[in-house]
Amino acid sequence: MTDLTALSLADAREGLVKKSFTSLELTDAHLVAMEKARVLNAYVLETPDQARAMARAADERIAKGEAGNLEGLPLGIKDLFATRDVRTTACSKILGDFKPQYESTVTSQLWRDGAVMLGKLNNDEFAMGSSNETSAFGPVINPWRREGSDVNLVPGGSSGGSASAVAASLCLGATGTDTGGSIRQPAAFTGIVGVKPTYGRCSRWGIVAFASSLDQAGPFARTVRDTAILMRSMAGHDPKDTTSVDRPVPDYEAAIGQSVKGMKIGIPKEYRLDGMSGEIEALWGQGAEWLKAAGAELVEVSLPHTKYALPAYYVVAPAEASSNLARYDGVRYGARVNGRNIAEMYENTRAAGFGPEVRRRVMIGTYVLSAGYYDAYYLRAQKVRTLIKKDFEDCFAKGVQAILTPATPSAAFGIGEKGQADPVEMYLNDIFTVTVNMAGLPGIAVPAGKDGQGLPLGLQLIGRPFEEETLFSLGEVIEQAAGNFTPKNWWA
Ligand code: GLN
Repeated sequence: MTDLTALSLADAREGLVKKSFTSLELTDAHLVAMEKARVLNAYVLETPDQARAMARAADERIAKGEAGNLEGLPLGIKDLFATRDVRTTACSKILGDFKPQYESTVTSQLWRDGAVMLGKLNNDEFAMGSSNETSAFGPVINPWRREGSDVNLVPGGSSGGSASAVAASLCLGATGTDTGGSIRQPAAFTGIVGVKPTYGRCSRWGIVAFASSLDQAGPFARTVRDTAILMRSMAGHDPKDTTSVDRPVPDYEAAIGQSVKGMKIGIPKEYRLDGMSGEIEALWGQGAEWLKAAGAELVEVSLPHTKYALPAYYVVAPAEASSNLARYDGVRYGARVNGRNIAEMYENTRAAGFGPEVRRRVMIGTYVLSAGYYDAYYLRAQKVRTLIKKDFEDCFAKGVQAILTPATPSAAFGIGEKGQADPVEMYLNDIFTVTVNMAGLPGIAVPAGKDGQGLPLGLQLIGRPFEEETLFSLGEVIEQAAGNFTPKNWWA
């Protein structure tokens, strides 16, 4: 039999329907691959018993002709999603062995449609990071290596486990969350596709909150079509999340292969950064050429407030994080370190439970929200946010249907290589992605080329609110032109 883990999600779906193999066989093939790939540290918890039970149930439904949209397809789940009775930690020590008594809406919709859970995936602690190095479970290794080198590279973050697992074929697809780039940046670093939907498209209920006005769940997979299939199950209105939007969920897969002829695509001049690498510049130009060849019209656009997006994000996101993380007090969840009185218990628990990056964010957030500084920092950042949103609105009002940019300013870097002396060096990874969260828009990262050392590079497409379908159509054009991205298997 061919290697079942090498199939795309769409091909696996077809194989199951045609009864070429069973979900149990497909699931077992992934469980074996996961065992051989433990060095990548992509999974923080493998759930083989649950996976096999879900696969058997899926096989029964297939036999009865009751298959759902994702019937029998094995997926990995970022450890930020609450999974009922299955340890959920956000990769923080402070959650200890927390086993939620509830299931996140997004994951429950995946199971409703028949998907199989392989386990929980590593991420930066509370999704704060761009390299997956802040996880309490240690860093994730990118399956890609520079040509002729055995240096371990980061998979990006914060959804580094999801990206690494999908790229290394340790699941057919995975969930991620994206607050400032945590789906699109790791997708670009690992040569896979990642989608950050419009704010409100997926329910945030049961997802560990980082910055609630920016957080959004989305899919990772090895093809654009596969992310479209996953999105259909993940999206939808949820009365338990008041920011989730009540509009019908389209059949995103139908957007694949739709003509992009006559579509107006914006190239924002402010994304051409000083000192940008020639490789990124060339990749961007190539992407524009591919879209043009498919009949799209390319126009230069201006998003004048782009340069304020990253600083404003690093006020808004920590502010919301400091408020959201106040709940980890040693009383309600996970770990507790006792003290002589309750105040000391809080302090001891939080000092022992949070890692350095999370502590930094809580301190920045508390500072920018404090009386006297609120107006100067938080309020001003919110005003900047409005201007960033307006830049995009002006652009869309002129008929632009999507915007093409690089996904990241570089390819994957080595573990320990960035952000040690200056955290801003790490924050700069999200320079092209945070604007999209600040404006609440959908974005997709698609692998588009390789750098001089053979590492994948991605392009980003940004869409109008709730027009993810346009991104799927355009993304597939890039995918078709750019060809295949599969890392050499050095780990198994
Ligand atoms: N890297 C960004 C941060 O650390 C974004 C993370 C994310 O999207 N969750 O805040």
